[in-house]
This record gives sequence, structure tokens and C-alpha cells, in this order.
Amino acid sequence: KPVIAIVGRPNVGKSTIFNRIVGERISIVEDIPGVTRDRIYSSAEWLNHDFNLIDTGGIDIGDEPFLDQIRMQAEIAIEEADVIIFITNGREGVTSADEEVAKILYKAKKPVVLAVNKVDNPDMREQIYDFYALGFGEPFPISGSHGLGLGDLLDEAAKHFPKRDTKEYGDDIIKFSLIGRPNVGKSSLVNAMLGEDRVIVSNVAGTTRDAIDSEVTVNGEKFVIIDTAGMRKKGKVYESTEKYSVLRALRAIERSDVVLVVIDGEEGIIEQDKKIAGYAHEAGRAVIIVVNKWDVVEKDEKTMKTFEQNIREHFLFLDYAPIVFLSAKTKKRIHTLIPMIKVASENHTRRVETSVLNDVIMDAVAMNPTPTDKGKRLKIYYTTQVAVGPPTFVVFVNDPELLHFSYERFLENRIRDAFGFEGTPIKIFARER
Ligand code: GDP
Repeated sequence: KPVIAIVGRPNVGKSTIFNRIVGERISIVEDIPGVTRDRIYSSAEWLNHDFNLIDTGGIDIGDEPFLDQIRMQAEIAIEEADVIIFITNGREGVTSADEEVAKILYKAKKPVVLAVNKVDNPDMREQIYDFYALGFGEPFPISGSHGLGLGDLLDEAAKHFPKRDTKEYGDDIIKFSLIGRPNVGKSSLVNAMLGEDRVIVSNVAGTTRDAIDSEVTVNGEKFVIIDTAGMRKKGKVYESTEKYSVLRALRAIERSDVVLVVIDGEEGIIEQDKKIAGYAHEAGRAVIIVVNKWDVVEKDEKTMKTFEQNIREHFLFLDYAPIVFLSAKTKKRIHTLIPMIKVASENHTRRVETSVLNDVIMDAVAMNPTPTDKGKRLKIYYTTQVAVGPPTFVVFVNDPELLHFSYERFLENRIRDAFGFEGTPIKIFARER
């Protein structure tokens, strides 16, 4: 999907415009506490265009001076986006901060569409001519609060979407990414897996976007590691901010089949790890939990078991994800990753036979009768798998309201016991028949 980033100095209305464009859309980040309130990344659509939108204004960069913050946000836009929407304020005219943003964007070699916000009525249109001075061609008058002019603006932005194949890689190539907070050892792991034969495959032909993937071949089979550039890069101030790493992680997750959630075995689990793992789960990707730096952990025969229990307690929602304890440094158990990725990916795209599935559900119901609510008992007529990636099941019932969470969970466990599905979430929906 093409990416549009919104930039501009504070108070020009970036987040209002972001919310307007995104609308009430359900995005993968929506259900995660803490991300909803200050959402900076979402999928969106305009007419027949599907794209992702970034509000760089939401990425706050510590206590850097004001102008540096604006500059860094512009740099993030340049790095992450195919098209940049540069927002200014028609009520205040061109300010020196606008000029600072413009200076950075000139160097970008990315298309920039200039928007003049807060043009709430036609009388104000005269004022937009000053904005030609910024050097990005025709300024587009908009009103974020009234929702005016956004259509024309997005039409213009869409003209600059890169033309590229919809598929980045073949369906048969497994794509995976490593996510986790800084310094857990993601880059070290990638290096350990790639060894000497690092092959960079720049996926986005014809654009300058800085998304560099690597290819690894194991026993003649190709795998793609998504966004190895995002892991390697370090140095710029904004790269260590939490919001920016989240943004990067969300984009990598979106392009992956399997996500390796990397935890620092030495430091243990912290809140940020849970959040990161939550994104992978919400996105419905296959997940493997990787505990790195196991070489420095003082161990006795119980250490691994205790750590595992700890993970299971913290990541209740990831009970399907296998856990591997390894070391990028000593390479211990590194070789187990690719086979695990393969299994998780196979399970993620596996279809089961309908007749067997229905036998499993019937046995489950015989073992543990369906719940009743206000004297009405849930009746299950038929179950069918409607999708893969992740496996998704529809249960046809008398009344979907009666399929409570706990019973749904029970059915999920029965399906897992019968078919495996290790490493992948599965989804169950009830439909009335
Ligand atoms: P990233 O930010 O997640 O990509 O983490 P890096 O790969 O840059 O690693 C952060 C630090 O942890 C570096 O100093 C690495 O040398 C160190 N490190 C990474 N993996 C291991 C490991 O398995 N064992 C030990 N002892 N140190 C590691």
C-alpha cells in the first residue's frame, strides 16, 4: 500500500485532518489500549485508493528544541512516505517554521502536496496565494474541521502514488520480520541468521523508499526478512523514540506472514514488550516468541521453565506462539528459527477438512454442553473454515449472542487440540442460520 505522511508545524491541524481522512475506520491498532487515543498510523481509503496514513505530528521527540522536532518529523515523513502532505495554516500565513519544513522537504525527492488548512469559507481563498512562495506549486485550500477540500487534496496525492506490482514477493515465499524494543538484539539476530551471505533485496522498485529487505536461503528455500534496514539503522535522534519504533514495527508486521517477537532474556519482560506483541497478535499474523541473550542468563534446570511461565502470564493472548530461547551472540539454537517460521507459516495458511472440523465441534459439544442464556440454549448447526492467514471459522448457530467468549475459547482449544495450528491465531465468528 502507498504511504502518505502528514507534516507541518504544530497547530496547523494535522491530527484533525488525519482523523478526518481515517474516519471511523477500524484499523489494526484500534483495539490496543494506549494507541487508540493518540493514533498516528492507520489504513485509510479515498475512492478506489487504499493507502496508509501517518501523522508525524504525533511522534513527539523528547525535549529537543521546537524547530528540531519539526525537522525530525519532516525527516520521518521523507523516510516513510511515498507522498507527503505538507499542511500550513491559512489564518496565519506563511511562517518561518513553515519555511523550515519546506527547506527539508526540498531535499526529499518525494512528491509533496501543499495544503492550506483552516480555509473555512470561500472569502478566505484569496489568502492562499501567498503559499505559492513555499515552492511546492499549487496550494490546496482545505478545512479540517469542516471537512472541505480533502477530496481534491487526496486526488492530487493519489496522482503521485508509485505504480508497482501489487505483490511484492511471490505467494510461496515466506516473509517474516523481527520486532521488539530497541537493543533486544534484532539486528544481531538477523546478522546471525544471514551470516556471510547477506543478500539485500530492495523491494520497492522505482521508489527511493528506505525499506530494505533481505533474502535468506535455507535448504534451497527462499525466505524474506522484512525491513532489515529499520533494524540496522541507528543514530538519528528520533529513531529511539517509542512512537517511531511502533510505526516502523506496524509497517513491518503488515508486510509479514510471520512475526518474531524478540525479548531480552537478560532484562526480562517489560510493558513495552507486551504492547509490541499485541500489535502482531491484533494483525492476525503468525507469531513466534524469541528470547534472546540467553547466553548471559544464569541458569539452573528451572530457569527456562520459570521464564516461560512468566511469558505465558504476560502474553495471555499469545498462548499459541511457540517460545525459543537462543543467543544471537553464540548462535545457540539460531538454526531452529527457520524451521519454526516454516511451521508457523504453514499453520497460518492451513485449511482443514470440513467434515473433520464438524466432527471435532460435535465431539466438543458432547463433552461440554453449549451455554444457555435466559432459558435459551446455543445450538450449533454447522462450522466451516472461510479463510486462511489466519485460519478463520464461521459457526452457524441459532443465535450468535449465545456464543459467549468462554465457550468460543473452549471451541478454539478443541480445534487446536485436533488440528494443531501452533504459531498462528485462529478466528471464530458466529453467524445466525
Ligand atoms: P536491536 O536494537 O534490537 O537491533 O539490538 P542489537 O542487535 O543492536 O543488539 C543490542 C545489543 O545487545 C548489542 O550490544 C549486541 O551486541 C547485544 N546482543 C545482541 N544479541 C545478544 C546475545 O544473544 N547475547 C548477548 N550477550 N548480547 C547480545
